Amino acid sequence: MILFSQLEAITGGRMLRFTKDVQISSLHTDSRKAIGTSDSVFFAIKGEHHDGHQYIHELYEKGARYFVVEREPAHADSYHDANILLTDSSIKALQAIVAYHRSALHMPVIGITGSNGKTIVKEWLFQLLSPDYKIAKNPGSYNSQLGVPLSIWQLQKHHELGIFEAGISTTGEMERLARIIQPTIGIFTNIGSAHDEGFSSLQEKVKEKLALFTTCKTVIYCKDHALIDEAIQRSGLPSLSWGSSSTAGIQVRQQNGKFTVSFKGTSFPLALPFSDKASVENCFHCVTTLFHLGYSADEIQERIQSLQSVPMRLELKEGINQSQVIDDTYNNDLAGLQISLEFLTNQHQKNKKRVILSDILESGLSNEALAKQIGALISKNNIHAFIGIGKVLSAHQQYFPEGSQFYSSTAEFVDRFDWDSIQQEVILVKGARAFQFEKIVERIQRKVHGTVMEIDLGAIVHNLNFFRARLKPSTKIMVMVKAFAYGSGSTEIANLLQYHKVDYLGVAYADEGIDLRRNNISLPIMVMNPSEESFGTLLQYKLEPELYSFKILQSFLSFLRGRSCAVHIKLDTGMHRLGFEENDIDKLTSILKEQPGLKVASIFSHMAGADEATHDDFSKEQVQRFLRSADKISQVLGYKPVYHILNSPGILRLPQFQMDMVRLGIGLYGVDPTTEKTEGLKPVATLKTMVSQVKSIETGETIGYGRRGKAEKPLTLATIAIGYADGFSRAFSRGAGKVMIQGQLAPVIGNVCMDMTMVDVTGIDVKEGDEVIVFGSGLPIQTVADSIHTIPYEILTNTSERVKRVFVAESI
Ligand SMILES: *Cc1c(COP(=O)(O)O)cnc(C)c1O
Repeated sequence: MILFSQLEAITGGRMLRFTKDVQISSLHTDSRKAIGTSDSVFFAIKGEHHDGHQYIHELYEKGARYFVVEREPAHADSYHDANILLTDSSIKALQAIVAYHRSALHMPVIGITGSNGKTIVKEWLFQLLSPDYKIAKNPGSYNSQLGVPLSIWQLQKHHELGIFEAGISTTGEMERLARIIQPTIGIFTNIGSAHDEGFSSLQEKVKEKLALFTTCKTVIYCKDHALIDEAIQRSGLPSLSWGSSSTAGIQVRQQNGKFTVSFKGTSFPLALPFSDKASVENCFHCVTTLFHLGYSADEIQERIQSLQSVPMRLELKEGINQSQVIDDTYNNDLAGLQISLEFLTNQHQKNKKRVILSDILESGLSNEALAKQIGALISKNNIHAFIGIGKVLSAHQQYFPEGSQFYSSTAEFVDRFDWDSIQQEVILVKGARAFQFEKIVERIQRKVHGTVMEIDLGAIVHNLNFFRARLKPSTKIMVMVKAFAYGSGSTEIANLLQYHKVDYLGVAYADEGIDLRRNNISLPIMVMNPSEESFGTLLQYKLEPELYSFKILQSFLSFLRGRSCAVHIKLDTGMHRLGFEENDIDKLTSILKEQPGLKVASIFSHMAGADEATHDDFSKEQVQRFLRSADKISQVLGYKPVYHILNSPGILRLPQFQMDMVRLGIGLYGVDPTTEKTEGLKPVATLKTMVSQVKSIETGETIGYGRRGKAEKPLTLATIAIGYADGFSRAFSRGAGKVMIQGQLAPVIGNVCMDMTMVDVTGIDVKEGDEVIVFGSGLPIQTVADSIHTIPYEILTNTSERVKRVFVAESI
């Protein structure tokens, strides 16, 4: 228990304002999550692109009273009952507070680091040990300089074990995390090449990671990793290794896929539920930990056998009656529930939010205390309908909002629930595995017919930050979400972008903008092709038209009749598509001069060849033309509208022309449209289908319409559930296109049909129901586009709307 008044001593900071003490309950660094909690502390952190200090006023207005800051807030005097601690670094203050909290707790803590497998090993140890220990762990992969302290803060007196992972990207970071985690047992999973940029060598990286283990009584690692072994030997840290070497503490031999394990002179066989290399390594880190904790070989075998693979993500899918379903049926604990509730409440596309939740098992709290905490979380998050399933929730209904419903079992719920009461809402379905909530998801999700486009929301955020990092902090970003957000689903993407505070959205047509507004998107929206018929709705929905010709300008002005509206002026500087040309500018300014109601929000133009160096001189010319005309307009207006000219290739190649704003399109979706193959973007969309049937074809037989496919030798053929009506172009016919099945490429045979396609899978081990990747993870869109001489833009936007979009976000 820590009081706010103790923070001066703990952090070395200085109290700027102190009016009332409080026992600190929760810690926040994200202003969007800190809202509505008066006994929590907000840490204002100044980053390269965000400054938490900016939100202090808003948070104070909303009831927040405790702040840790790096500089004095502008109106601190007017925050009468605020409490403000000034420190050199809010992040270091946060770390110091949590380190102090950790020092007062005396249970064993397992600290995990390494390049890969940290989250899986953590989740598996949790599965293996939770029958015997009350455990706290990082939610998801909250393993950073911020994530670790926020995770360790969850560790409380009633816990019997902590399992925490730590990830770093540069030197000096691990030492800080080590002071917070203070592990008693360490696990070093492996070392790969990830994050190499922050380290001078692999050796340095290993050494840096070892810094986590200084307080450990045992470090567990695989002796087959020579670099790790060497470093641990040299460090003198007490350790327990496993591996194939006879000097490993636990020897592991593998023959025909079967393992024999020798420990302290006895050998026994061990069967693992997974066979891929990474899972085997992760399993053995767990096995070794269990031996170290004193489990017998029989117990270990029994527990390992029931290990479940860890789905590391939440899925947002289409549900019945225009609803959306968040499928989170894997596990259920308090920290994970908070993350899932955040994800739910951030889906602003629908106003109504429903939660279907099972009892939380093995929480370490009394049933009553547990129900009380869950009830408080539900109340705080403005859930309009809560359904509790299980005996614990049912027995403590008084802690939940009025109107909540309770069922003692999943079977009872599925049997008795009125499914039609679900209408246009977002529903979080979250349950411990034992409750088999997949039965509920099956009932409320719209059936998907084999073909889905998976959209990785984490990759979108990653790409957005990737571009932000290349821009000046003051440069605004307009994201183009035209054409169904390049095929990715406009309302969901726009909602995410709104949460991540982009400045503008751009769409092609008024209808697209209206659809966003109806789904609660309040960001400013520019419409590139406004039509006369749409003017009324533009105004009604606060959409901002692009004006590109005298005709559209005049008709908009006569429609406005003096009413005010924000507009965007498009200049043609060489693309020769839409826009005013340089010799139109005098006439344009003479019209604008007479129109005080017209607010020119921005002046912009579009690059014709930003993707290629051969056009760089032309691009520069475009910029000069643009600035000449735009400055003339600004002069007449008497104010300077926002200037912008760069699209994604422009941001990547010509950032010197970023001006006041950029228009980000395909780059956000993970495609580099330049020839320079920029590293660091993550693919966002994966189009998947499945194998409907597998056949053997004799030599000489023909395949498909027009008999255009022919078996020159005996073939194995798979019919897959995608055709040109789904957006799988007919140009992929006859070997031009390839899809990926079981990690191998299978060429199209014959012509692509409307809903189906036949592919040659000779030599690949394929069965009906197998997943087929059409593009995305493992099969880059660029490669697929090249195969039919088109560009990724067309491949992405071709995917038909009948293909269901599933949005995935990292979770647990
Ligand atoms: C589509 C579009 C963009 C975005 O282009 P990308 O190459 O996808 O980044 C920018 N500006 C305008 C006017 C557009 O039409």
